[in-house]
Amino acid sequence: MKRFFLLSGTLWLSVFLLPLFTPHDEMPLLRAPETEAVAVDAETNVTVLTGGKVETLPLDVYLQGVVAAEMPALFPEEALKAQAVAARTYTMKRASETPAASHKGAMVCDDPNHCKAYQPLAAISANWGASSADYEEKIKSAVGETDGEILLYEGEPISAVFHSSCAKKTEAAADVWGRDVPYLQSVESVGDTDAPNHEKTVRVPIEEFRTKVLATYATADFSKSPVFGEPVRSAAGGVKTISVGGVNITGQQLRMMFGLRSANFTVSEEADAVVFQTVGFGHGVGMSQYGARGLALQGMEYREILAHYYTGTQLGKIEKKEV
Ligand SMILES: [Zn+2]
Repeated sequence: MKRFFLLSGTLWLSVFLLPLFTPHDEMPLLRAPETEAVAVDAETNVTVLTGGKVETLPLDVYLQGVVAAEMPALFPEEALKAQAVAARTYTMKRASETPAASHKGAMVCDDPNHCKAYQPLAAISANWGASSADYEEKIKSAVGETDGEILLYEGEPISAVFHSSCAKKTEAAADVWGRDVPYLQSVESVGDTDAPNHEKTVRVPIEEFRTKVLATYATADFSKSPVFGEPVRSAAGGVKTISVGGVNITGQQLRMMFGLRSANFTVSEEADAVVFQTVGFGHGVGMSQYGARGLALQGMEYREILAHYYTGTQLGKIEKKEV
């Protein structure tokens, strides 16, 4: 574990911030090379809480399972490579920040709502039928050809969040999570409409809707019409807040409450149901996976795709050293 933290903490900071400070006093000061490349042990392992157990895996083996679990293997190579870099960056930042107690001591877990989805590549491949060998090769080469590459903002690894698909623009982090992140701004996205169920209608029986809202917002008043006010929307179209029975509720809260695919929705009240019409899938921040596919189909390379979705970032390289 220590080796990984050296890699994610001291080594990066050694290279990018030295001689400003050394963050881990208890660790030996590692001499950083003068170049951007960082030499680390070939044995870079990650501990993963998966299926209730903690497993130790080589980072690349873990990333193969993440990429295969997070993005359809039939996507273009350049989209898969962008996914591999985003997943590697996310993993290393996550591992350096998450309190070990939250994962039974592991660096990351396989819960997509907490860290990233993960399954062993072989287990996912078993569902690919005749395409297994081809798809496995694609996944392995997406991870292998981007070996050691991570995204940096002002020299530090970024929180490389991603989502399945958005409306025509991604969401800025500030609009979804209330905190501005310079590299997570709203940008144009193409190709998202190819995603399955890009637009989806969800009908919630009126009594169920009222009961769920009242359980959290006891002062909501459903006796007046209309129940819904005009939503306040982000630049990307997501619902930031909307008045429901006179109470302001965020789009994200409604999304969670009713299992909506996204907070980019219109809502209307019918006689027996509340009807949501959602666009996209996920929080909408960072790289859109279907957008990455769309840009790859237009001929864009993974570096360009990443630069498009993560504003002002650079690609850094961690170079592995055989020991
Ligand atoms: Zn986790």
